Amino acid sequence: MEAAHLTWEEYRDEVAKRVVILPVGSLEQHGPHLPLNVDVVIPTHFARLVDERVGALVLPTIAYGYKSHPTSGGGQLFPGTTSLNGMTLIHLTLDILKETYRHGGRKFLVLNGHYENLAFLNEAVELFVEQAKDVKVLTLCWWDQVSDELVDEIFAEAGFPGWDTEHAAITETSLMQYFAPELVREDKIIDDQSERKPTYSIFPPPADIIPASGVLYKATYASAEKGEKLATQVADRIAAIVAEEF
Ligand code: ZN
Ligand code: MN
Repeated sequence: MEAAHLTWEEYRDEVAKRVVILPVGSLEQHGPHLPLNVDVVIPTHFARLVDERVGALVLPTIAYGYKSHPTSGGGQLFPGTTSLNGMTLIHLTLDILKETYRHGGRKFLVLNGHYENLAFLNEAVELFVEQAKDVKVLTLCWWDQVSDELVDEIFAEAGFPGWDTEHAAITETSLMQYFAPELVREDKIIDDQSERKPTYSIFPPPADIIPASGVLYKATYASAEKGEKLATQVADRIAAIVAEEF
């Protein structure tokens, strides 16, 4: 169930019983064919699918995330990419966890949809569990729940570039075609990549490490069918993790 749709009395009676899911995303460019809220839409849908499977309490998704990195999201220079400082994301996440704990929440799953968020979410959770008694918190990224076999199948033709480079490309486009096809500009789907991919960071980023389109890999290999396979497998695996850990 969605926490925001409950009354305070309904919330009071459910929060301690259920695993509380906090999806976290970003407002970030995703090429010419996808909206800025891809990293919000995807973990929000995964949270709903996990709720259907295990009966969770889903908090409103954090709609902003940590700064976009050039080689995993195109960087900060695209219009619309609107990011938080690390400290802001840590404090925002920590505040939400502490407030939910105060109401009785003890079992938490932080479900991340934006590559650059993870270290800051883990830091917020570290600070939270230092203070909160009798809690258990899991943090996970949806892409880490895709099996090697499904990676091989989905990237059979294009080749797998690594999850950092899979931005606005096959998996995100496929999941959007499945979860929210009305938000996908089908006629603008393209393949792209940067001229080079350094193994180190450069500040400020030079133009040749960022594709001008914002697409970091081959989005034309996406399909709603691939999106459905990803959605089902990832939701099943997260539900299994929840069942095992709580
Ligand atoms: Zn994304
Ligand atoms: Mn992202």
